[in-house]
Amino acid sequence: MTGQIKSVGIVGAGTMGQGIAQVCATSGLDVLVYDIQPAMVEGALKKIAASLQSLVDKNKITPAKRTESLSLIRPAANLEELQCDLLIEAAAEDLAIKRKIFAQLEKSAGPEAILTSNTSSIPITKISSPLKDQQRFAGLHFFNPAPLMKLVEIIRGAHTSDDTVKALQQFCLTIQKQSVMAYDSPGFIVNRVARHFYVESLKLVEENVANFQTVDALLRSSGFKMGPFELMDLIGVDVNFAVTSSMYNAFHQDPKFRPSRIQQQKVDAGHHGRKTGKGFYDYSK
Ligand code: NAD
Repeated sequence: MTGQIKSVGIVGAGTMGQGIAQVCATSGLDVLVYDIQPAMVEGALKKIAASLQSLVDKNKITPAKRTESLSLIRPAANLEELQCDLLIEAAAEDLAIKRKIFAQLEKSAGPEAILTSNTSSIPITKISSPLKDQQRFAGLHFFNPAPLMKLVEIIRGAHTSDDTVKALQQFCLTIQKQSVMAYDSPGFIVNRVARHFYVESLKLVEENVANFQTVDALLRSSGFKMGPFELMDLIGVDVNFAVTSSMYNAFHQDPKFRPSRIQQQKVDAGHHGRKTGKGFYDYSK
């Protein structure tokens, strides 16, 4: 990729895909969104429209900006349609799924397209190792909610080229995000540190030291914007559990990353947080 990134293809229209699509479109970039479940793309477009409307209501953007941004986002029927300068995969936190997506994208995307994963924890080199050209592959880790969170981690895999890193740094400037470089390691920087926020809080509840509402209230009162259980509900309890499990295994079952039974039960029950209407808290009302 030699020129500037003008178009972005997003794979996965869940929590992160939606947010990233909104960020790119409000920065004037063309956006194509694909999801294995077409209804997710439809839902994402509606949620982005509602999110932009709330920015209009708060006088943060004009109605014209909302209309223009929405017109830049289009659904894609399959991965082959994602003919874009930059591809961002935001599908499930699962190595096999991600590798399958990139095997297809490597074939169908233009040879200059940059391929990136928004993975929270899986080492970038592990995802890209079956690819023929790993130089154009990197991690591009947005935080949730993507329209609000300023930070993006750019993760350099073992084969990522300098040109790829430079193009991604430039892209982050275009979308007005603060980029930080990280070398490849499970969980990169933020998630490696943040894991203990969740894992220790879950242990406190498992050991009946306090209930989850108390842990949330105390951590909020000590300066955190959200308590760990509120944050897990925002992130997606399933996604947070998958990230902890991935890091636990990547660090050879280091007990400090051991996933929690309480969280496992929530995942099994389908209580995945805000996106399903119930997680640790109830959002049905
Ligand atoms: P999500 O569950 O909200 O959405 C994932 C979407 O991917 C779903 O709509 C699903 O249908 C789709 N999908 C699954 N397999 C697919 C495939 N083969 N092809 C196309 N689409 C497919 O998940 P999310 O929270 O948006 O997370 C997506 C990625 O971003 C994960 O790797 C996650 O670890 C990472 N991430 C999540 C957060 C967060 O706070 N939720 C933050 C940063 C990074």
